[in-house]
Amino acid sequence: MSPHRIIIIGSGPAGYTAALYLARAGLAPTVITGPFLGGQLTTTREIENFPGFATPLSTSVLMETMRAQAERFGANLVSDSILRADFSSSPFVCYGEEGTYTADAAIIATGAMVRWLDIPGEERLRGAGVSACATCDGAFFRNKTVAVVGGGNTAVDEALFLARLACKVYLIHRRDTLRAEVIQQNRLFACEKITCLWNKRVVSCQGEKRLESIVLEDVQTGLSEELPLEGLFVAVGHTPSTEAFKGQVALTPDGYIATTLGRTDTSVPGVFAAGDVCDSVYKQAITAAGQGCMAALDAERWLSGKKDLS
Ligand code: FAD
Ligand code: NAP
Repeated sequence: MSPHRIIIIGSGPAGYTAALYLARAGLAPTVITGPFLGGQLTTTREIENFPGFATPLSTSVLMETMRAQAERFGANLVSDSILRADFSSSPFVCYGEEGTYTADAAIIATGAMVRWLDIPGEERLRGAGVSACATCDGAFFRNKTVAVVGGGNTAVDEALFLARLACKVYLIHRRDTLRAEVIQQNRLFACEKITCLWNKRVVSCQGEKRLESIVLEDVQTGLSEELPLEGLFVAVGHTPSTEAFKGQVALTPDGYIATTLGRTDTSVPGVFAAGDVCDSVYKQAITAAGQGCMAALDAERWLSGKKDLS
């Protein structure tokens, strides 16, 4: 057992920013990096909307720089993944694959995993026409033909956003009714650039170096057709990475960690959450980093208020 003042679980923008602030506050945080050093962003090559960079920035450079900045001020990185946590009494205990960590406070920054379709060609063409984030990649599809898969709020938001850039947008849904809010549905149906393809499943992505077309299957007739496309945006939901914390902190009905409105406190005093693990709406690197900063400041204040800690 090694006692830590505070541990940060996750090494994405939220975790590294929390580490930077806590390290500069002299609290020598320990960051448990998890299975994806640098987080979700490292699954794509470039980022264009992180403020401060006028030209496209390599995501690996961005995340390596965040890591180095946090380490420079005294953050301690540990390569491990947390399997289970016990937040029932102080100090908190996190059980990892490699070790056990006790700490007076914790920040959960474990992010969320995009749900993909798991169809042939999808993984190979990710970043080459296949994306899961219109805000991030939409600008690459100006005046091009794209499709969005899904029938929830995210899919409709993505389709409306893309309609401002692309020349044609298909919304492909496996049923004939959307689960998105009615107001958003009305906006979708009013947009001339958007065509809904109902009762269709995407069964494969085609293309050598870039996406060229997709194959659709009608769920009622079983008939297949090919649809030429330059971009496919998968919007079938995200899964927040909360497995290790179930039963320890309150979750929202969608499975995200519940935090106090406008703050980063969870249901357990001394345990804070930041980034995509508690954010079902914004899901951006900059918002995750901002919440990491908030969690660090909230945690620092909480720790300084604990009389029994030196
Ligand atoms: P993540 O980046 O998901 O990091 C989570 C961290 O937690 C990881 O280090 C992981 O290893 C760790 N972890 C998970 N489980 C455990 C565990 N059990 N124990 C220990 N550690 C654990 N946003 C933009 O602003 N601009 C873009 O252009 C952009 N492009 C994107 C492209 C793609 C393909 C994807 C998938 C996302 C993109 N995003 C973009 C969104 C952005 O990546 C996320 O909003 C952001 O990374 C969230 O940061 P986070 O720190 O909350 O979580
Ligand atoms: P969601 O509401 O869970 O919707 C996912 C959609 O993807 C559903 O339509 C589902 O189809 C479809 N889907 C799931 N798996 C699929 C698969 N394998 N193949 C094809 N289609 C599949 O997810 P979300 O849209 O990301 O929204 C998540 C949460 O965030 C929701 O609570 C939402 O309200 C909220 N949100 C709100 C806003 C907003 O307020 N503007 C914006 C974005 C998100 P079925 O309908 O058939 O199940």
